[in-house]
Amino acid sequence: LEKKYLAEIFEPAITLDGKKAHLYINAGLLSGIQNEMVREADGIGLYRTEVPFMMQPRFPSESEQVEIYKQVLDAMPNKSVIMRTLDVGGDKALPYFPISEDNPFLGWRGIRLSLDHPELLLIQLRAMLQADQNRGQLQILLPMVSQLKEIDLSLSYLERAYAEVQAETGKTFIRPKIGVMIEVPSLVYQLDQVAQRVDFISVGSNDLTQYLLAVDRNNPRVNSLYDSYYPGVLRALQRIMLDSRQHQLDVSVCGELAGEPFGAALLFAMGCNKLSMNHGSIPKVNYMLRRVNFAELQCILRQALKMDDGSQVRELLLDYFNQQN
Ligand code: PEP
Ligand code: MG
Repeated sequence: LEKKYLAEIFEPAITLDGKKAHLYINAGLLSGIQNEMVREADGIGLYRTEVPFMMQPRFPSESEQVEIYKQVLDAMPNKSVIMRTLDVGGDKALPYFPISEDNPFLGWRGIRLSLDHPELLLIQLRAMLQADQNRGQLQILLPMVSQLKEIDLSLSYLERAYAEVQAETGKTFIRPKIGVMIEVPSLVYQLDQVAQRVDFISVGSNDLTQYLLAVDRNNPRVNSLYDSYYPGVLRALQRIMLDSRQHQLDVSVCGELAGEPFGAALLFAMGCNKLSMNHGSIPKVNYMLRRVNFAELQCILRQALKMDDGSQVRELLLDYFNQQN
């Protein structure tokens, strides 16, 4: 990382005209969050639980999961930690749970798998609740939700897990906030109904881009079509931010776009002030936000939304940033 980015890492992410962003970390490996610099983040915006599951020869037991989740919470004392339930399938496989499908990205992924194996989901939810107990750091996030009934069913399992751990331990537990990933286009148009069910949403721009453009995010042949800056994708993101505000839904973005300076600038201009990214991206995004004007970014955004192609959007941002530095 360039020295100039690191020099300002402990300075707040505030634009020249005084708008503040909250920067969170995407994590999976404990090694990625157990260092001093990471503690400057506002919390963990996405903890991918499938990562520890992939490191094991079998499904980790409930007590093993409690230990893992406690360590994650300990790495960020007194800050919020958004733990996502298991998101395997698609490109992420567990060696001890092989899935073979013609269209894995349209298949048995994320919450679909958890709801078909509620015993796995319940263990995971129970472990998360016990790890947090009464710290109040935990928030729970559901991946790959495409229909409202998946939220309702998941909430009923959470209620059950909550009642079970309280009855079994005789302790009281803080009720965690619950959220869904917005990464399948159907939910983009149902945020009013989503808001009636959950406390927050987290936008998975990686999968949302893939599903909006019908481009496999890992297929090199169609790679040039995979573009989160494509104005059709940006308009969907803009709509999510507008509708979240209207329905008082707390919103953050945890896809790769949030960790790219151009992407972060556009999302921030849309009104999203919670951005979650790999820890290595924080210094760069922080540096960028400290050098821009929110009002100017909004003007850039308006132009970007009317462009025909993602390459034009990137050029527009490049020009703006060159002027700023
Ligand atoms: C996403 O889809 O943007 C996301 C953050 O989830 P993942 O990359 O783990 O699929
Ligand atoms: Mg995803």
